[in-house]
Amino acid sequence: SGHWISVLGLGAMGAALAEALLGAGREVTVWNRSAEKAAPFAGRGAGIAGSAAEAIGAAPLVIICLLDYAAVRDVLSGAVDQLVGRTIVNLTNGTPQDARDIATWVEDQGASYIDGGIMAVPPMIGSPDAFILYSGTAEAFDDYRQTLEILGATQFLGPDAGLAPLYDLALLSAMYGLFGGFLHATALAGSEKVEAGRFTEMLVPWLNAMTGVLPEIARQIDTHNYAAADGSNLAMQAVAIENIIATSNAQGVDSGLIVPMRALMAHRIACGFGGNDIAGLYRVVASRKRDD
Ligand code: NDP
Repeated sequence: SGHWISVLGLGAMGAALAEALLGAGREVTVWNRSAEKAAPFAGRGAGIAGSAAEAIGAAPLVIICLLDYAAVRDVLSGAVDQLVGRTIVNLTNGTPQDARDIATWVEDQGASYIDGGIMAVPPMIGSPDAFILYSGTAEAFDDYRQTLEILGATQFLGPDAGLAPLYDLALLSAMYGLFGGFLHATALAGSEKVEAGRFTEMLVPWLNAMTGVLPEIARQIDTHNYAAADGSNLAMQAVAIENIIATSNAQGVDSGLIVPMRALMAHRIACGFGGNDIAGLYRVVASRKRDD
């Protein structure tokens, strides 16, 4: 039937995807390398496929969520005879190049390819808080948009399959920067026995205020106008960074997460831009040659 959906991979995320589709009343076939993760789905009305190829052959829409692209390539290359006419939606984390290579290969087999990046943790799947980035064949995305919206809000980024992973990795990079800053800050406060929970009550409003500044920094980047407008120039900020590093060292806290920020600032200041705002560091970060 045209409405069946196959879900390949029932790890933490794949299982949440399959459950959301079943919860919305869709007909779902599941497959997982280790069969014990598939068995509980039989009781919820899902079809259980004995192989990845069987699962791919069972539905026009095939959603794949595995650990990495090596696993995705393994699974798809074993199902060449089943691929023709299918739409493959691959929600596995990978690089833009991974996505472009597999898109070309899938299309050569006569199937459509959509790559996706899930901006949610498993418990958020199926709620409006989850959003998923997609890129690849626009017609296939339009055909299945309603189904994909069961999983979370959708954002289609364009026909280049590499765009969803690019945005995904960029968003994750900002998240890791935030987590890194949080860990360093908490350790610094903790070096004088301040409890993480109590410190976090102060930290969250501070970070919220700082995220409010990001659109203005983005405007400076987009207009190539980096001059410190609001009185926070880099030469002044470099003093604070130096004090953060000195205090980390004195308190026995690892300064490894903040030291690269000092290097970026020193470089920009040495180039004669000590009067820039933090936005000026964009020029340093964005200027590496490709494949460095
Ligand atoms: P899990 O570790 O829970 O599950 C991994 C899945 O991949 C399992 O189904 C596993 O099968 C399967 N697998 C691994 N290697 C192979 C292989 N060689 N052949 C076939 N199957 C294989 O990971 P998640 O479900 O959490 O993550 C899956 C994807 O979702 C990842 O790309 C991740 O980045 C992405 N994602 C996850 C999020 C999360 O918070 N969990 C958030 C956003 C994205 P088996 O059971 O047999 O080991």
